[in-house]
Amino acid sequence: MVDRHLYDADVIIVGAGISGLATALLLHEQDVSVRVLEANDRPGGRVHSVFSEKDQSYLADLGPTWVWPKYQPIIAHWLDKLGLERFPQYEQGNAILDYGPGTSPDTRYLPGQDGSVRINGGPQAIINRLVAALPQNTVRLNALVTSIATTPDDVTLEIDDEHQTTLRSQSAVVTVPPRIAAQNIQWQPDLPVSLKDALDQTPTWMAPHAKVVALYDKPFWRERGLSGRIASNAGPIGEAHDHCGPDGSPAAIFGFIGLSHTDRTRLGETLEKQIYNQLQRCFGGNSPQPNAIYIEDWGMSPTVTSPRDLSEPMSHPNVRPGVLRDSHADGRLFFAGAETAQQSPGLIEGAFNAAERAAKDIITSRADFLDRIA
Ligand SMILES: Cc1cc2nc3c(=O)[nH]c(=O)nc-3n(C[C@H](O)[C@H](O)[C@H](O)COP(=O)(O)OP(=O)(O)OC[C@H]3O[C@@H](n4cnc5c(N)ncnc54)[C@H](O)[C@@H]3O)c2cc1C
Repeated sequence: MVDRHLYDADVIIVGAGISGLATALLLHEQDVSVRVLEANDRPGGRVHSVFSEKDQSYLADLGPTWVWPKYQPIIAHWLDKLGLERFPQYEQGNAILDYGPGTSPDTRYLPGQDGSVRINGGPQAIINRLVAALPQNTVRLNALVTSIATTPDDVTLEIDDEHQTTLRSQSAVVTVPPRIAAQNIQWQPDLPVSLKDALDQTPTWMAPHAKVVALYDKPFWRERGLSGRIASNAGPIGEAHDHCGPDGSPAAIFGFIGLSHTDRTRLGETLEKQIYNQLQRCFGGNSPQPNAIYIEDWGMSPTVTSPRDLSEPMSHPNVRPGVLRDSHADGRLFFAGAETAQQSPGLIEGAFNAAERAAKDIITSRADFLDRIA
C-alpha cells in the first residue's frame, strides 16, 4: 500500500522538457494527479530562448527552431491543441558562401528544407502553453532527482535539494535524456542489463552542439536580396539562417558553430570575437554590427549531455530498442523523452510521440489495476 506520508502525486515525471510536460498534461486531462521534477531553474530542457532584457519577451532560440508539420502529424496536432501559429522559414534571396579570412564570399541560391516552419513565439511558446495548462505548482524546479527506487507497491524518488526531499508516487515517467538517466540516477533495484545498455547506447540528439544567435536592429540582409543563410567551410559558424520574427522583427541570425566542444572550450572568449569577425566578413565591412551575440554550448549542460555524447561522432537519430518503450518494475516505471520515440526520435515530434505513448501506457496500466482490485 502507498504510504500517504510522503505521497506526492499518482505519477511523478522526471524532466520538464517538452516530453515531460506533455506527459503531465495528458495525464492531468485524464484526472491523474501529476508532479514534474526539473533539475534546472527553468522548464524547457533543450528548449531554451533569448529573452528581452526590457520586458522578458521571447526573442530567439538557443535550442530547437524548426518543425515540419507537413510531414509530422503529431506536432501538427499539438500546435493546434495549444493554439500556436506557425510561419515559414525565410528563404528568399541568395545564401552567402564563406571561405574564411582573406577571401571574398560568394552568393548563390541554396534551396531550404522542404516544409520547415517556425512557431510564433518559438518552441518556447510550447513550453509556456504546456506549463500554463497544468495546475499551478505542478512543476517543481531546482529538483535534481538522484535516485529512483521501485517496489511492487510504489516508487520513491530522492531529490538533491536543500531538504534532501523524498517523494513517493504510484508510478514514475523518466523523460531525461537516456544516457543521463543511466549515468546520473541511482536505481534500486538495478535496472535490467538490456534496459541499462539501451539507455547508455542512445545518443542525445544535438547534445554536442553549440548554437549562436546574433540580434540586429533590422534584417538589413533581406533588403540586399540575401536570405540570411550562410554556408561556411571556415567557421566558427558552419551554417546560419535568418531567425527574425514573423514580420522581420526582432531581427536575428542564428547559426550552428562548426567546432568540436574541445575546440570551442579552447577558444573561450575568443570564440565570440571570431563570430563577430565572420559575420562582418560575410555581410561586408559596411554592415551593421549585431547588437548582441548569445552562445549556448549544449556540451556544457550536465542535464542534457553526457561525456559519451562528446566523445562520439554524432549521427542522425534512429529508432532505438523497444525496451526503452516497455513498462518496467511491474508497471511502476516508464521512459519517455524524444530519444525513446518510435516516430521522429530526437526531434520535438519525437518528444510528443513519446509523451503520448507513456501517458497511454500509464492510463492502461491504471485501468488494469482498478479492474484487478474491483
Ligand atoms: C541546438 C539544438 C537544436 C535543435 N533543433 C531542433 C529542431 O530544429 N527541430 C526539432 O524538432 N528538434 C530540434 N532539437 C531537438 C529538440 O530540442 C528535442 O527533441 C526536444 O527538446 C527534447 O525534449 P525532451 O523533453 O525529450 O528532452 P529535454 O528537453 O532534454 O528535457 C529533459 C529534461 O530533464 C531534465 N533533467 C535531466 N536530468 C534530470 C534529473 N536527474 N532530475 C530532474 N530533471 C532532470 C533536464 O534538465 C531537461 O529539462 C534541437 C536540440 C538542440 C539542443
